[in-house]
Amino acid sequence: MQFDYAICGTRNADVGLPAGLKILREGGSALDAVEESIKLIENNPYDITVGFNGFPNLLGTVELDASIMDGKTRQAGSIAAVRNFRHPISIARKVMEISPHVMLVGEGAEKFARALGFIEEDIIDELGIKNYHNIIEGKSLEMPQEAQTLVRELFMRFDDHLKEVMEKYAVKDWYRKLSFDKHGTTNVIALDKHNNLAVGVSTSGLAMKFPGRVGDSPLFGAGIYCSETVGAACTGTGELAIRLSTARLVVDRYERKLPLDESTRSGITDLMKIKEEGVLHILSMNNKGDCSAFTNKDGIFHFYADSNMEEPVKRLSNYINLKKK
Ligand code: ASP
Repeated sequence: MQFDYAICGTRNADVGLPAGLKILREGGSALDAVEESIKLIENNPYDITVGFNGFPNLLGTVELDASIMDGKTRQAGSIAAVRNFRHPISIARKVMEISPHVMLVGEGAEKFARALGFIEEDIIDELGIKNYHNIIEGKSLEMPQEAQTLVRELFMRFDDHLKEVMEKYAVKDWYRKLSFDKHGTTNVIALDKHNNLAVGVSTSGLAMKFPGRVGDSPLFGAGIYCSETVGAACTGTGELAIRLSTARLVVDRYERKLPLDESTRSGITDLMKIKEEGVLHILSMNNKGDCSAFTNKDGIFHFYADSNMEEPVKRLSNYINLKKK
């Protein structure tokens, strides 16, 4: 089916997609629709996985990652581990449009944002701080006592005794368990009336991540990719999408003439190659406005709207049970 324009986004995108849809309806660009939708999601204080009030890292600081990519030109911009700015997606777009680079991280990205007049502010309020303490104190973790001790030790002894803590506990295993639910991201993909596709991603990453940890979201090829014919983006355990180059592979397979659903599905079945626990959700959309979503976790949904629709509708993503033999 061919649509004039279309937009889709992850389960937290409902607060942003109507604005993106309006931009597309009025003939605006896919890039503008993506950026505007994501800014509204970043502003949502109740979404503790993106922008304002995103999950802090282990030491209590919110570090944000974001990226944006244009399909026709394959221009791309991203930032990672950026503190104190509410709209990482807009900084990423500036990296794409006016810097000679594709990706800026940490202090350098913050300097760049400051120089362009982005306002620095506190991006965590009492709700976010409470969330952080609940994790540190083990209240929001349905996990054995050992895991709670570990998070406290990591937090208290990160600087001086990190090596010792990592030797003493199975830190990797613990993070793998944590990564089942304490995280999230937003993905938005838009197709405009001029048949341009764009993809954007924004996140605070994995809760209680090590300071400086970068996930898949700002990495082109891993958590985001867009060509002239199709865009793809991921949410879930970022380390998995990085190791598998998920978004790029989904795009590549579609370009090699695999149907959209098959291409997207293959990003999930690739997980079998590394036999590691974690969740992965993939959203894709082609330049006809068809959208596809696959996940290895039951009950995940996304939002979609095209030029025949008044507003975005909720759709269940296709669940692949990788544990089933
Ligand atoms: N993919 C994100 C990251 O690893 C987190 C998420 O989507 O849940 O940073």
